[in-house]
Amino acid sequence: MKTYTGGCHCRKVRYEVDMEELTEAMSCNCSICSKRGWLLTFVPASSFRLLQGSDEVTMYHFNKNKIDHIFCKTCGTASYGSGSDGEGNVMMAINVRCLDDVDLSTLKINQVDGKSY
Ligand SMILES: [Zn+2]
Repeated sequence: MKTYTGGCHCRKVRYEVDMEELTEAMSCNCSICSKRGWLLTFVPASSFRLLQGSDEVTMYHFNKNKIDHIFCKTCGTASYGSGSDGEGNVMMAINVRCLDDVDLSTLKINQVDGKSY
């Protein structure tokens, strides 16, 4: 396990994530991912710690409101989000682009057909 740090552009929102060494990320073609350009990885909520910025974020909901699309009120960066895995477990969606010291060019990008779900 490795601890990654990340957050938004203006640094009001900062978090830590415990996960295996990152070797791949998900690129989704659903309506919001395609506009926002996210590269995502998912972790259990217990592996995610928001260090600062809980008052600095706001949320966007659409469709069935299943996912909290969280973003910084100041800089607009959507560095993470949260939702359920379908079995009631809270999962955090981490925007890999917002992690510190990750070389995106080394990651295997898996295309996910979220549009069809
Ligand atoms: Zn910000």
